Amino acid sequence: MGTVSRFAPSPTGYLHIGGLRTAIFAWLFAKANKGKVLLRFEDTDQERSKEEFTKSIMESFSWMDIDFDEKPYLQSKAKERHIEVAENLLRDGHAYYCSCTNERLDDLRKEQMKKGLKPKYDRKCRDLNLKPDANHVIRFKNPIEGEVSFKDLVRGQISFSNDELDDLILVRNNGLPTYNLCVVVDDVDMGVTHIIRGEDHINNTPRQLNILTALKESLPQYGHVPMILGEDKKRMSKRHGAVNVIEFKEQGILPEALLNYLVRLGWSLGDRELFSKADLIDNFQKGRINNSPAIFSMEKLLWFNKEYLSSLDFSDLEEKVSKFAKSFSQKSEYSRRVLHLIRTRCSTLIDFQRESHYFFNDVSHFEENLVKEVFTEESKEILSKLLKSLEPLDSWKSEEIQKIINLLKEDLGVGMPQIGKPLRLAIAGTLSSPSIDETVEVLGKEKVISRLEQALDKFS
Ligand code: GLU
Repeated sequence: MGTVSRFAPSPTGYLHIGGLRTAIFAWLFAKANKGKVLLRFEDTDQERSKEEFTKSIMESFSWMDIDFDEKPYLQSKAKERHIEVAENLLRDGHAYYCSCTNERLDDLRKEQMKKGLKPKYDRKCRDLNLKPDANHVIRFKNPIEGEVSFKDLVRGQISFSNDELDDLILVRNNGLPTYNLCVVVDDVDMGVTHIIRGEDHINNTPRQLNILTALKESLPQYGHVPMILGEDKKRMSKRHGAVNVIEFKEQGILPEALLNYLVRLGWSLGDRELFSKADLIDNFQKGRINNSPAIFSMEKLLWFNKEYLSSLDFSDLEEKVSKFAKSFSQKSEYSRRVLHLIRTRCSTLIDFQRESHYFFNDVSHFEENLVKEVFTEESKEILSKLLKSLEPLDSWKSEEIQKIINLLKEDLGVGMPQIGKPLRLAIAGTLSSPSIDETVEVLGKEKVISRLEQALDKFS
């Protein structure tokens, strides 16, 4: 039988970075084994599940270029099938009607807690052969003795004692099937052979395995992927910055970089960092998934993003940057020269806007502190001398510009920063720009001269 894995999000929120990472592992596992990967929306919580979230999760996957085989499966559509399976379990003696009231269950729980015991149903109705009544639920007859063991693909051998497991409810008194039943039935019906999911589901696995065994179905293999934590070792949440996949898109992260980073965050093959999607598929089986929690670092993600940005071919980069910084959609000779000049300074697509601002807009705002620090009497002298030397220059090339700067340095006996700082501030409105000779060249003579004049005017 071929490999079939699946990702099963509940559409009660946007796709979270941790969910994406689990999905990527399920996806990679299937691709590496030349199998299929399916998507199932676990939308049975009618109040919290929203169409908006289903759409957004799909959009996140399409942005990431993670494709699923077959169209998404909706758990809510299979309700009758879930009930049918619960009835089969009743028929075969693996489930029973329970008519215990909520009050009884509450009292039982309180009593157990008082005794320091783990709250658990006491199986009062298990052997009573009750008929359904107005308030019944259907419970699973979990084996009383023995162990449930499985070999987790990530964590190795795991065992649970049946003693610790409850006779869990399969169908509630409102007629709705419960989570563990739905998951088991859907996994069987979808032909899932490998369940790669978040480690928060590890406690459900023995329960699901017992149901599968009662149904005489073959057992899938499980791999529980560790959680992603923030740098403070707490579960990733809004406090840590972006957590929804769509936010990373809006922040100018490339999907290839996010994919590479998220996989490396918990999977490794030696020390190698950079893997294209095809490399990951080819190498996935050779590497290993860590079984300890992964710590998310925005700084590391930005490193990956910068690497991917720098390896894009120019027209691809221009296309992508244009969506974030309109000036580059001109695709003029000027905008292309600017893009060449600043590309290695940017870690995200958003950075291109900030880094290129003074190439496309007038420089009119100067920070007061910078003006005080940089436009001293001495530097105004320097700037006016520089202006005089630049004005007659016809061949506006960085080498010529550098020569002029060097001459001035010698003449005045000053160092590079004494010329570079005021020059940068005057022409770019900031002290951070690419190399000064190239910045002056690309900006062009007209802008440079008029900005130098403006600065001398404004601050003298
Ligand atoms: N719907 C569950 C979740 O979003 C996943 C269940 C599973 O993978 O078995 O956490």
